Amino acid sequence: MKNGARVVKQMLFGEMTEREITVQKEVINYLKNISAEGKVGHAYVFCGPRGIGKRTVAGMFAAMLLCGSDSGIKPCGGCTACRLYRNGTNPDFKKVTAENSGAGVDEIRKALSEMIIKPVYSPRKVFVIEDADELTVQAQNSMLKTLEEPPEYAVLVLTASNYNALLETIRSRVTRINLKRNSYSEVRSIIEKHLDNNKESEAIASWSGGVPGKALQMALSPELRAIREKTFEMLEILEEKGLDALAESASFFEENRSNVDIILETMESYYRDIIVATETGNENLLINKDKNDIIFNKTGRHSSHNLASRVCRIADLRRDLKQNANYALSVENMLIRIICG
Ligand SMILES: [Zn+2]
Repeated sequence: MKNGARVVKQMLFGEMTEREITVQKEVINYLKNISAEGKVGHAYVFCGPRGIGKRTVAGMFAAMLLCGSDSGIKPCGGCTACRLYRNGTNPDFKKVTAENSGAGVDEIRKALSEMIIKPVYSPRKVFVIEDADELTVQAQNSMLKTLEEPPEYAVLVLTASNYNALLETIRSRVTRINLKRNSYSEVRSIIEKHLDNNKESEAIASWSGGVPGKALQMALSPELRAIREKTFEMLEILEEKGLDALAESASFFEENRSNVDIILETMESYYRDIIVATETGNENLLINKDKNDIIFNKTGRHSSHNLASRVCRIADLRRDLKQNANYALSVENMLIRIICG
C-alpha cells in the first residue's frame, strides 16, 4: 500500500495524481491551448463536486501559466519558474484555501495586494483561491477590485463546489469551467487496485457518483469503510428496535462526529436503495450492491413515500449542521423523525 499511502497524503491536500483525473483531459487540453495561444483571461472558476479534481486541475493550469519557457509544451518542467513552482517557492504563485473558513478577508486582501508587484520569474502571476464558494461575502467583495482592474499579467483561479454561493458580481467576471464526473467504470478502474473485495469496489464506485476523489478516499481508508459498515449495522438496529435504539444510534453519531458526512451519505443511499429495490426489484440499480440481501429484506416494510421523507430528514440535518446548530440535538431530532415518521 505504499502507493496508497502516497495517494492518501495527496487526498488530504485535496489533490489527485494526473493519472487519476484522465477524465478531465478535455478541460486540460482546452487550458493547454489557451495557454499556448496566449488567450488566457484574467479569472477562472473551476466547478464541480468535492473530490472531482478541481484543485489538481487548478494546480496544473497554474503550472502552465507560470512556466517561463518560450517554446514548446508548457509547463516545460525545466525552467527556473517551473522548478520553483514544483518546490512550492515560486514567488509569482500564491494559493489560499477558504475551506472551513481557512482564509478570511485579511488573507485574501493581503495576497491580492501583492498582485501589483510584477512577476519575477514567470510571465504571469497566478493566485489560486480554493473553495472560494466558502469565502464570506466580505472576503468575496475584496476580490472585486482585482477582478475589475486586473494587472495585465494577473490570473485569478478559483475553485468552487457550489457555484451559486459566489456573488453575482464575482460570477459575472470569471470564466466558468465545469469539471466532468467520471463514468462508473472509470471510477472502478481507479479504485479496484486498492481493494480486494469486488463487491465493495462496485459499491464504492457507485456510491461516489462519478467523483474519483470521493471513491479513492473511501477505498484507501479502512477507517471510512468501517464507518460505512457500522452505519449499516446502526440502520439495522434502528429498524429493529425503533426508539429503543435511539441512545445507541446517537452515541454512534457522537463517536464519529468528524465523519458525519459519510454516515449521512450511507444512510441516504440505504433508503434510496430500498426505494429502488421496492419499485424495480432490480439489484443492478442499487448503489450498495454489496448489501443487496439487507436492502431486499427491507422492501415492503415501508412505503416509498415514507422512505423518501427519511431522505428529506437527512437533508434537514445537513442544513442545520451547516448553520451551526447543536450537533447532538439535531442528530437526535433527525433520528426521532426517522423512527416515528
Ligand atoms: Zn517551464
